[in-house]
Amino acid sequence: MLLEKMSYAQAAEAFRKDPLVIIPVGSLEQHGPQCALGTDFLVPQFMARQLEGIDNVIVAPTVNYGVCDYHMSFPGTVSIGVEGLSLLLGKIVEGLMSHGARRFLVLNGHGGNTPAIDSAALKAYKAGGILVEFDWWVVVGQLDKRFAGGHGDKIETEAMLAVDDSAVHLDLALDMDPIKLTDDIAPVHIQSFRYKGADVRIARDTKESAPHGWFGPWDPRDAKKEEGEEMMALCLDYIKGLIEELKKLEL
Ligand SMILES: [Zn+2]
Repeated sequence: MLLEKMSYAQAAEAFRKDPLVIIPVGSLEQHGPQCALGTDFLVPQFMARQLEGIDNVIVAPTVNYGVCDYHMSFPGTVSIGVEGLSLLLGKIVEGLMSHGARRFLVLNGHGGNTPAIDSAALKAYKAGGILVEFDWWVVVGQLDKRFAGGHGDKIETEAMLAVDDSAVHLDLALDMDPIKLTDDIAPVHIQSFRYKGADVRIARDTKESAPHGWFGPWDPRDAKKEEGEEMMALCLDYIKGLIEELKKLEL
């Protein structure tokens, strides 16, 4: 059930049953010249909408903004920072718990959100609940190595093709053109650099290492909608199992 479509009378009934509440969380940020700014919330929202029919599951409205200060040089990107998202998620969890919810599953679309989600998870934990973070791009890459990707590369572009192909413009795609920091320090991910076989983290604007915004092992121009659909199906299967496990948990 979608919380936004329920009346308070229906909500009262639903919250009495110790439901699992899904909160899709993302970010409004650049994903290369070819892929939508909303990718990180549109993908989790798409998954949540496929799960709303499951018994005793409530889907809360999507959190569209997240933590992406390092993408700010790309037009359209908006960050509410760790403080903003921690406050927002904390208040959402607090509000839902005041009505009786104790089990939360955050479907997350953006790695930068993790510290803020952790803070909301600890808030839920201290109040006797549990909050689980599901990072779709991490899980899908672990379930199938073909789907291990980067940021705004083929993998995220394929996911977006499956969700809404009108939000992908492969004709606008550009080469990655990664920029080394020094001759011996090269980017391996957004904010992650390799020196002598091991990685160090350097937080700086994405354009300094990935001038066109995307970074990853796979060129977005090779993105195929069918593979995106396969990824979404893999994630949905996994989440359905996880939901049933979380329902069993004694709190
Ligand atoms: Zn993303």
